[in-house]
Amino acid sequence: MIKFLDLEKVNNRYREEIDKRIKSILDKGWYLQGEWDKTFEDNFAKFCGVKHCIGCANGLDALNLIIRGYGFGAGDEIIVPANTYIASILAISENGCTPVLVEPDINTYNINPELIEEKITDKTKAIMVVHLYGQAVQMGKIWNLAKKYNLKIIEDSAQAHGALYNGNRTGSLGDASGFSFYPGKNLGCMGDGGCVTTNDDELAARIRAIANYGSDRKYHHIYKGINSRLDEIQAAILDVKLPYLDNDNKRRREISKFYRENIKNPKIILPKVYDEKSHVWHIFAIRCEKRDKLQKYLEENGIQTNIHYPTPPHKQGAYKEWENQSYPVSEEIHRTELSLPISPVMTDDEIEKVVRIANAF
Ligand SMILES: *Cc1c(COP(=O)(O)O)cnc(C)c1O
Repeated sequence: MIKFLDLEKVNNRYREEIDKRIKSILDKGWYLQGEWDKTFEDNFAKFCGVKHCIGCANGLDALNLIIRGYGFGAGDEIIVPANTYIASILAISENGCTPVLVEPDINTYNINPELIEEKITDKTKAIMVVHLYGQAVQMGKIWNLAKKYNLKIIEDSAQAHGALYNGNRTGSLGDASGFSFYPGKNLGCMGDGGCVTTNDDELAARIRAIANYGSDRKYHHIYKGINSRLDEIQAAILDVKLPYLDNDNKRRREISKFYRENIKNPKIILPKVYDEKSHVWHIFAIRCEKRDKLQKYLEENGIQTNIHYPTPPHKQGAYKEWENQSYPVSEEIHRTELSLPISPVMTDDEIEKVVRIANAF
């Protein structure tokens, strides 16, 4: 069976170094807000090309902290793509803001920049771009809109560690960015983890305080904060893996290229990419009219796949208020999408097998 993602194999490549670091943490007995957190934050900020990285407990918290850090709340609107993973939208609702859904572009699966302006009102405070499936959003038009209407740009970079737009990394393309280090992400830890990146000194200080019980120094609480931290073990593991991220992404690009050049089946729509460096292929999303049949057929032939995602956010029970709204492009993606395995530890034989079987469907 070709697994969708063999995490044991992914992490075993660093086993020795990770064992050593965990042992050093156990020997030292310091588990939170220590040297590894600081080291990883510095290295990840450098990697993204920004001034600040603030570790936190997970990707949802990262987005939540950005919105809280800006002080957005009830009555404020934030624009977000209709086909994103629900966490982007939950972070907006959690702060009492109104998520305003915008249809994606069927070719990139990212927010359609042409459809944003008509959704901007005098309540709009921010545009949340999501670099979905690992492809950096084309930012040009969005930067112009943000300038014209004085809006913040929040990036959800949870699927796009290392992706480039015009030579700049995700995490540096907006005013602030949230990352997730969930185990299955391109840069993943061994539990939950996340971070915020930004060049904004004030926002960074506020977020650091909010994430630490609203405290800017010990027992001094200036915000009604939360507890959201990246622990030392996760930070140390991430710091082991970070130097290999670009190489892993390169391998993902190779696999993607092989799939795109060799899967030749009129029943399968392959993903498009406008610039190879802009995509880190967290997910290789194909579309097929007979998606469920294709998934079953691949499974029977030893290939595990996934669906990202089966149900759009506006059709979820959590958002009953949107039940009667219609986002046909998003719905079309959710109806037909299938994710082929594309992990950096796949062998050439496995990749060839995926192509062979997919072509025979
Ligand atoms: C994974 C993910 C998140 C949430 O990250 P967690 O660490 O699981 O909280 C947010 N947005 C997107 C697009 C994601 O893929």
